[in-house]
Amino acid sequence: MNNNAETATGEQPQQDGAFLENGTDFQIVAEDAPVMLWLTNSEGKVVFTNSKWKKFVGAAVDGHLSGDVWLMALHPDDREGCLHIFTDAFQSHQPFEMEYRLRRFDGQYRYILDTGEPYINKEGKFSGFIGSSTDITDRKNYENQLHLSQLELTQHNREMALINELNSYLQVCRSLKETHAIVHYYAKQIFTDQSGALYLFDDSHSMVEAVATWGDTRFFSSLVIASDDCWALRQGRLHIVEEPANAILCHHIIEHPTQGYVCAPAIAQGEMIGFLCVTLGDNRDDKRAWTSVESRTRLISLAADNLAMALVSLKLREALRNRSLHDPMTQLFNRRYLDETLAHELATCQRAHTPLGVIMIDIDHFKIYNDTYGHDAGDFVLTEIAEIMRSKLRDGDIACRYGGEELVMVILGAGKAITGERAEAVRAAIEKHPFTYKGQPLASVTASLGVAACPEDGHSTHVLLKAADVALYHAKESGRNKVVISGQA
Ligand code: GH3
Ligand code: MG
Ligand code: MG
Repeated sequence: MNNNAETATGEQPQQDGAFLENGTDFQIVAEDAPVMLWLTNSEGKVVFTNSKWKKFVGAAVDGHLSGDVWLMALHPDDREGCLHIFTDAFQSHQPFEMEYRLRRFDGQYRYILDTGEPYINKEGKFSGFIGSSTDITDRKNYENQLHLSQLELTQHNREMALINELNSYLQVCRSLKETHAIVHYYAKQIFTDQSGALYLFDDSHSMVEAVATWGDTRFFSSLVIASDDCWALRQGRLHIVEEPANAILCHHIIEHPTQGYVCAPAIAQGEMIGFLCVTLGDNRDDKRAWTSVESRTRLISLAADNLAMALVSLKLREALRNRSLHDPMTQLFNRRYLDETLAHELATCQRAHTPLGVIMIDIDHFKIYNDTYGHDAGDFVLTEIAEIMRSKLRDGDIACRYGGEELVMVILGAGKAITGERAEAVRAAIEKHPFTYKGQPLASVTASLGVAACPEDGHSTHVLLKAADVALYHAKESGRNKVVISGQA
């Protein structure tokens, strides 16, 4: 109400012309009016405030209240803006409105709406402003709440849309490994300005490993932990840390974290597959400081549930797919897998002009072996040979049970000579392998092997396997326990 504290000197209204000339009665009425009223002179000095106004700031009702009191009670952050409006109004003599925070008698800052009207005396001369002050704190709080609710709603919708998108990507993932990059990408967007990690149990359920992390990973003391390093995992429920200095911290968090966090176990269909850990954000400079801990926790928990559901169903799909592509006895790939994959690999090799070798393996006199030791011992020998094959695999190679006691290895990037060497290594390993079944030593086993390679022997699965089979036949014909390379018999 005053653009200059020095000019608001506490002069009595009686000395100021217009207001009193016309209306002592008005002053009496204004004094007890149920609204806060004030009056300035033409220079901006406060010449009158009614008792409601004085009571508001805690001043004596019977004394005169100067502009100083107003300035002192004005919130420091609002001072500049108010003085600006006030100065403008006194220059333009135009009505004005301004909102500011004013310290009430009880020390609480309240939102005030000031409305000022220029006061013109009967000579038509500008004599000052008359105005009212209204406490609009309740309205303001309501507006703020409404604004926050709108922000939260917008944020919530955005988060839900992102979680839906994440789900739809996870549903079409073919392996758990593929999901890691997707979780990383979406987690960064869903949990903006927050750090986090998705920890999953390893296959043996003994360790928990962070498969996706985002934000500042220095928050975590370790990315591979034991299952009892996390309270959420131990208890199977949310672990919320709002104030780290005053809480039970998980062991996978650094010792003195600067912000709180939530660990949400990822549980679906009764299976706990890991947990999601997300920081609650640093309120000092967080763009989303207005969101409550409850709403952040809800989001973290929801994300953990969704991830668990998607990952458990992916694991099931993966297991089913593995089952349908693996031979249950030897755990090697089956013929169906070989047919699918070999066609794909041959096409890739042709495009890249790289060779590809195949080895067809058939156990020698296996019928007699079975007859001598029994079918179960024969099964055991087969699984042991499968293990020998696995031990000879390199990255990208494929080993499969083609049928009965016929086995196939695919050697990516290898021509005939290299494939022949690899076949020889397998043959030698089988020959010298000691078989002991149920504590009884069995006779040694040999195998015959046929080798063929793309491009020399053909480009199709059928033609290549046929060439390897013909080479295998020659190995049998020429005495068994041999490697024969297609075209070199
Ligand atoms: P060779 O290959 O040296 O000519 O003689 P072989 O006796 O191995 O002859 P062949 O390959 O034609 O015989 C396949 C035998 O392998 C027949 C069957 O008894 C045995 N066999 C096939 N599948 C299995 C299996 O799953 N378990 C066991 N124990 N034996 C199997
Ligand atoms: Mg056979
Ligand atoms: Mg055989």
